[in-house]
Amino acid sequence: MVRKYICPACGIKSGVNIEYGYPSSELMEASERGEVALGGCCIGDNDPERRCLHCGHEWRIKRRSADLNALVSYLEDRLMDASVGNDQNDFKTGFLEGFRSAVEHVIRFQIEQDLKTY
Ligand SMILES: [Zn+2]
Repeated sequence: MVRKYICPACGIKSGVNIEYGYPSSELMEASERGEVALGGCCIGDNDPERRCLHCGHEWRIKRRSADLNALVSYLEDRLMDASVGNDQNDFKTGFLEGFRSAVEHVIRFQIEQDLKTY
């Protein structure tokens, strides 16, 4: 049973991995069974990694992770701003540290879920 992923465009679980390069006969057969999509021989840096067999939408799975990582950086910057001038306030510093690690934990979990789902 081949894993299918939820298409971000149509919401149907019809996304499969796109295989690039000259396909082997096994890969051709897998493609005919709808288990993978063939992406052709030319591989670029921004090629999509998954394709929806229902609507044809193609997407990159890493982009969502990049968005979430950018969010972590943003929150860290804001927390740094918030903690400036409060060095003596141990409670506040500890709270901010805890808050940051909690946010990072949630986002790492979300990234893992995203990679399994989309
Ligand atoms: Zn779709």
